[in-house]
Amino acid sequence: MTNYSDTPIAEAADQASRIIHRYGLEQFERPGFRRTIAVANQKGGVGKTTTAVNLAAALGLYGMRVLVIDLDPQGNASTALGAEHRAGTPSSYELMMGINTASECVQQSTAGENVFVIPATIDLAGSEIELVSMVAREHRLLEALRDDYIDELDVDFIFIDCPPSLGLLTINAMVAAQEILLPIQCEYYALEGVGQLLNNIKLIKSHLNKNLHLSTIILTMFDGRTRLADQVEDEVRNHFGDIVLDTVIPRSVKVSEAPGFSQTVIQFDPGSAGSKTYLEAAKEIIIRSGEMEEANNG
Ligand code: ADP
Ligand code: MG
Repeated sequence: MTNYSDTPIAEAADQASRIIHRYGLEQFERPGFRRTIAVANQKGGVGKTTTAVNLAAALGLYGMRVLVIDLDPQGNASTALGAEHRAGTPSSYELMMGINTASECVQQSTAGENVFVIPATIDLAGSEIELVSMVAREHRLLEALRDDYIDELDVDFIFIDCPPSLGLLTINAMVAAQEILLPIQCEYYALEGVGQLLNNIKLIKSHLNKNLHLSTIILTMFDGRTRLADQVEDEVRNHFGDIVLDTVIPRSVKVSEAPGFSQTVIQFDPGSAGSKTYLEAAKEIIIRSGEMEEANNG
């Protein structure tokens, strides 16, 4: 694992411990199994990246170990997690192309000592086309993650931040994951495209990955002043039931400012509504992990 600088990491660890103490965050027992979760929605700008990085930071503060794989050539998750992602940096591109191994691509995140990241660089932009002619093109990410180093990294959660399309990158994520986390923006046309996503999940489940399922929906950018936001929430809850997290992420300017400082909102402004709700959502996810474990054992 490349450690570009010790200083920001030490600072991050310090900051994490301050947040834990100041906000009295409890520490949870680690679940004892790994959940690999693709954060997907082919619509852009619905909060996929924001959700992936903030849940990762929050889970890290609760004592979980988390790896975020940035699979969007934009590299926004890499930025928010303080990862180096200049062209040529060992990244998700090199990983899928077999140029670098997982251990060469993983970086420590500045979001906390429990958070790791495989960044995305601009090199990933051409990969949808490059992948087309490759052997086992849908399984490249899955195979690259079948690596002792990933086991040694000993993470409880892997989040794969998908690009806004249903192309081969997203398919690679869906083959490598067991679960889909779908962020839905509480806005006009919120459900547009969700049917198509569900259809794709069904196809991948029957042809490429029988374990795949939509496990979690999170409502994002909720604006409490509009009736529309309430209507979207009701509709999603009526249709999808239990898989929708109780916690709703409000629209908050702090959330959108944080990436400009290469931070998650949890570091940028821990007391803000955005930070508190992502911490709350992460807690729900941990509690659900406990329930999954019980179900598996019982
Ligand atoms: P996606 O990854 O689905 O394209 P992003 O997470 O990048 O979406 O979010 C799109 C934009 O909306 C970004 O500028 C982000 O900072 C902003 N944003 C995301 N969540 C919130 C929120 N809860 N409140 C305000 N702005 C948000
Ligand atoms: Mg994104």
